[in-house]
Amino acid sequence: MTMEIPIDIDSVQNYIDGEWRAPSGIDGQDIVNPATEETIAHTNFSATSDVDEAVQAGQDAFVEWREVPVEERIQPLFRLKQLLEDHQDEIAKLLVKEHGKTFQEAKGELRRGIENVEVACGIPSLMQAGHLPNAAPEIDETAVRKPLGVFTAITPFNFPGMIPLWFLPYAVATGNAFILKPSERDPLTAQYLFALVEKAGFPDGILQLVNGSKETVNILLEHDDIAGVSFVGSTPVAKHVYETAAANGKRVQAQGGAKNHIVVAESADLDFAAEQTIGSAFANTGQRCLANPAAVVVDEVYDDFADRVVENAENMTVADGLADDSEMGPLITPEQQERVEEYIREGIEDGADLLLDGRELETPDTGNFLRPTIFGDVDSEMSIAREEIFGPVLALIRADDFEDALDIVNRSRFGNAASLFTDRGSDARKFRHTVDAGNLGVNTGTAAPMAFFHFGGWKDSFFGDLHAQGEDMIHFYTDKAIYIERWPDA
Ligand code: NAD
Repeated sequence: MTMEIPIDIDSVQNYIDGEWRAPSGIDGQDIVNPATEETIAHTNFSATSDVDEAVQAGQDAFVEWREVPVEERIQPLFRLKQLLEDHQDEIAKLLVKEHGKTFQEAKGELRRGIENVEVACGIPSLMQAGHLPNAAPEIDETAVRKPLGVFTAITPFNFPGMIPLWFLPYAVATGNAFILKPSERDPLTAQYLFALVEKAGFPDGILQLVNGSKETVNILLEHDDIAGVSFVGSTPVAKHVYETAAANGKRVQAQGGAKNHIVVAESADLDFAAEQTIGSAFANTGQRCLANPAAVVVDEVYDDFADRVVENAENMTVADGLADDSEMGPLITPEQQERVEEYIREGIEDGADLLLDGRELETPDTGNFLRPTIFGDVDSEMSIAREEIFGPVLALIRADDFEDALDIVNRSRFGNAASLFTDRGSDARKFRHTVDAGNLGVNTGTAAPMAFFHFGGWKDSFFGDLHAQGEDMIHFYTDKAIYIERWPDA
């Protein structure tokens, strides 16, 4: 039987030092269901005093937590994993209501989040460093990894269930305290996550939730007693976070925006490539840093490929994410819908060929809905090919040949991910060696690594060195020390 989890979704709360409290700062904003336009909650933003209290509680808790044997530290994580499993349907429903994605997409993202909790439960092995007896005459040397204090993560709206879990489990498993600042646009999923954190039995102050928007972020970035910052969001903010956190003496990893490409080579299985391209470009309504909204197709197969993607996209069911048959939900806000439609207008003015116009097709009566839109013969210099639109717009770019396609991909200022469809190993090898991106897929539309591998981009998609997930997180959340010991015989 699953445990009852009461969560107050009318008014968003902070979770500080083991207690739920209203943020005491400025009035914030309503949380509106993007499919129904109903207001489902309200969030206030945190003030300096809330952040100070959380950091102080984190510091006090950290001093004891780092001394807790690692085997005991992971027990609440095992309980958190089970609670997430038991409550995944309720969390997914809440996530759909505040974000808009489909129920299956919400469950999928929770699964990827849970994977990170599972990986962090392996910390007794992952945190080991090294030992060498007789490193020098009568000297033994031991490398250790030590936790550093209070960390924070600032997360975006597009994966409110998964992205906090790229960080939270590793931070506490390694012996640190952790503060989450979720997106102010959909903070309810984090409320639910922290209701489970409370049930899982972490000591007070070890895991805390502070709600707010950019003002709260800046208070965190400038706080003297925060050791490190993880950020995921748009590129301009990632750059600001990277620079400000570093200027304030913190470790920082900042994941930014993206404009990823799919390359379709002449030997590709076109049916499969088209199906995967649709999934990649339109899942989560195109609001994914791993979406591939630009497909660079070699001339020889361009027309056949274009026919297939248009046919697949035309038939997608666009509806409230809680409807059983929904394949694509709404955009997060009316402002985002307007921004995406502005890009569509720009694409038309720039002379791209509008093969499928999502604005013209029927959508539900309420909500920020836009159907899949596809442009053909897009020049790689047009804004619809170069900029992150973050909506259901796919640009098809014609390449002279495979070499030309790789050149087009590498001209992007972003480097989060790229995928290739081919039947030839030599194409795949060349693609992997020459494309400058952090996640490279071959015959897979979305190059998303499992939690036990690191995840992060290159170029303007990432600022820092250690990426999210897996082993990189152990390095980010610890510093190394060497014990050099001599115990001569008396
Ligand atoms: P965003 O940059 O608007 O917000 C992200 C976080 O930063 C939020 O918590 C927000 O409160 C805070 N923030 C916003 N403006 C700020 C400012 N001026 N100063 C300080 N903090 C500020 O991003 P978003 O719209 O929530 O998310 C979408 C973006 O995130 C896209 O660009 C997407 O590509 C990117 N993203 C990247 C990855 C990745 O792994 N590279 C993953 C998911 C999303």
